[in-house]
Parts: sequence; C-alpha cells; structure tokens
Amino acid sequence: MLSPNALMQLEERFGAHNYKPLDVVLTRGQGIWVWDVAGRRYMDCLAAYSAVNQGHCHPRILAAMMDQAKRLTLTSRAFRNDQLGLMYQEICELTRSHKMLPMNSGAEAVETVIKAVRKWGYTVKGVPPDRAEIIVCANNFHGRTITIVGFSTDPVSREGFGPFTPGFRIVPFGDAAALEAAVTPHTVGFLVEPIQGEAGVIIPPDGYLRQAREICRRHDIVLILDEIQTGLGRTGKLLAEEHEGIEADLTLVGKALSGGFYPVSAVLSNQAVMDVLRPGEHGSTFGGNPLACAVARAAVRVLVDEGMVENAAAMGAYFLAELRGIRHPAIKEVRGRGLMIGMELVPEAGGARAFCERLMTHGLLCKETHEHTIRFAPPLVITRPDIDWALERIAKVFENR
Ligand SMILES: *Cc1c(COP(=O)(O)O)cnc(C)c1O
Repeated sequence: MLSPNALMQLEERFGAHNYKPLDVVLTRGQGIWVWDVAGRRYMDCLAAYSAVNQGHCHPRILAAMMDQAKRLTLTSRAFRNDQLGLMYQEICELTRSHKMLPMNSGAEAVETVIKAVRKWGYTVKGVPPDRAEIIVCANNFHGRTITIVGFSTDPVSREGFGPFTPGFRIVPFGDAAALEAAVTPHTVGFLVEPIQGEAGVIIPPDGYLRQAREICRRHDIVLILDEIQTGLGRTGKLLAEEHEGIEADLTLVGKALSGGFYPVSAVLSNQAVMDVLRPGEHGSTFGGNPLACAVARAAVRVLVDEGMVENAAAMGAYFLAELRGIRHPAIKEVRGRGLMIGMELVPEAGGARAFCERLMTHGLLCKETHEHTIRFAPPLVITRPDIDWALERIAKVFENR
C-alpha cells in the first residue's frame, strides 16, 4: 500500500493541476463520515458540493446500482430501456413537472436549457434568428463549459478561455428592478440560482424569486432555476423554489440526483418549452441510461422515504443558530438555509482556507468558497449529536486563534 504522501505525489506528478485539494487522501465513506488511508475519521461538511445529500454509500442506492449494473448499464437512446420511463414518472410526479430531459453533468443540463429556451424563443416567442438573449446574474456559478464560463463574472473562471458565446446579459443578483430593466423584446430566459452557492452562500432578499417569476410571466420569458446545488433537500425543501411558493418553468437538478454514485443531471420542465426539441436535435450517449435511471430513482426515493428533507430543515436551523452563537472577531456573518450554511470571515482573518486546514486537523472536512467564506453543508442525514460534535471542534478552532 502506498503512503498518503506517495499517493499525493502521484496526483501532483501525473494529474492536471486544475484543483487545489486539502491534503487528505480518502478511501472510505459512510453516512456523514469519511476515512483517510491512515484510518483517521472525518466529518464531511462539504458532501461533494451537495452531491452526497443522502450520505456516503447509502445502502439502498448502492443496492439499486449493483442490481442494475448486473442486468443492463447502457443502451444509448437509440433503444428504449425499462428504467427510463419509471424515472421520468417518479421524478416528474414528485417535483410536479410535466417533462424531464436526462443528462449527466450539471453543466450539460445548463447547456441543454440554453438550447431549449433559444429554440423556444425562435419558434414560439418569435424572436428574430440568432438574436435570443438570456439574462444571468453576477457571481453566478453554472458550470465550466465555454458557453457557461463566458457569462461568468469570475475572472479566474473566464480569463484565457475566450472567445465566448454571445447572447447573455448580466444583472446584479437579488435585484428585481435590474432584471426588469435588462429585458428586451429578444429576452427568452432568465437563468438564476435560488441561493448562490459557489459565490459564498448568498441568499437573495425575500420575495426576489416571486418578483422574478412575475417579471418573467409579464414579459413572456422562461424562468430557469439552477437547483443543481440547492435542490433535492439541501435547503430544507425538496426544491428551494418552494421557500417562495413559486414554480420555475425549467428547473435544473444534478449532483444529489444520484446520491453521489454516478453523474446524473436533468432538466425538469413545467411548460411546453421542452416540446420544441425534436429527434436528433439534442442528446447524450450516457444520458438516461438504465444504470443512471436506477440510481436516480433510488436516490430520490431515499430522500423522501427517510425524511432527509425535513431533517435538513430541522438540523439546518439548529446548526445555523449554534454557529451564530460562536462569537469571534474573525467571523463577519453566518448565513444559510437548511443545511446550506456559509460562515463569512472578515478580510483581516487571512482567508477561509487556513481555517479549513485547521478544521481538518480537528476532524472536519470543509471547503472555503471564494476567499473568505467557510461552507458547512454536510449530508442531510446528520443528527443533533453529530452537529454538537462539529460545533465543539469549530469553536475550538476559533478559540485557538
Ligand atoms: C455544481 C453546479 C453546476 C455544475 O455541475 P457539474 O456537474 O459540475 O457540471 C451548475 N450549477 C450549480 C449551481 C452547481 O452548484
């Protein structure tokens, strides 16, 4: 067996350096816990950016995956399979959607809606050819393709990667008046995260999504919510849109759609937008494959059956309140909804990374988001004693400053 150092050196030597991970080499996971190759146990407070909401290696999802893997894994969409229709039905019924289009990564789901709303704009709304505009928000995170990074406002994500896809307008997040002012007769869609995760857990003002819903309705614009991170229980509701009692026209889900077993994403559609896509116009070799469908069906079922959404609401409220009780001059603000929590540090604290490294030595794996924010987003199966365990260690890290 190679030592942790040898394994890290292999990554550095042979791997592209497009990530800067914490120096912990993990080998096993169960529920909220992960173990490194030396046998040390850590609480996972990132949950793979909310892809393992159901907890690591959830036994029911594992069983569904193993069972399906023995029978049939991939047909391509040239043929039908006996899992796809059932996944459509179960997920559409649960999310009150009319239609579903399965892809693999989140970025592919975003690319899919961009294509669909553009085509809807030309064929239904009557926008002149090649003039469609989609409004997005400053500090967004929607993925890493050329088109998506082209409408990012983060210089690290974009610089050096142009030229980019035209047809996007950027407005400040949380500002309904700015959204309305950016609307033109060519606007076909508004793409927004209900809570900006990668930007540092930024929660918009109350009523923002309701106002956006109304503006989109009034101007005949497709409201697209990117719930790839906020969806599937993370914020204490199945979808974050429920906090404002609205329904998007198109909703993107990914990450926890597979409970972390396998890349599965989807576009959920509440109106006729999806019908503009005709055979041959869009697709993916692996999208909607029977293994992905069986995994997604199980992943969504356990979220509901095991009360994980309600648990996220209850445990999130407790965790947030207790974190706010930690008083330290380095802490600027603690904010969150459900188990999507950000602790923003003051700029003088020297960055969140150093705190994440110290938390790691105390047995908590967290990831900084942007410079100054520590994210706390454990799997949704976390219990109150687990949170108390974490709080003790978080408090210690601040005491020892
Ligand atoms: C992670 C994420 C994506 C991209 O998903 P990938 O699977 O990494 O392509 C898109 N939008 C949001 C809000 C995300 O958090």
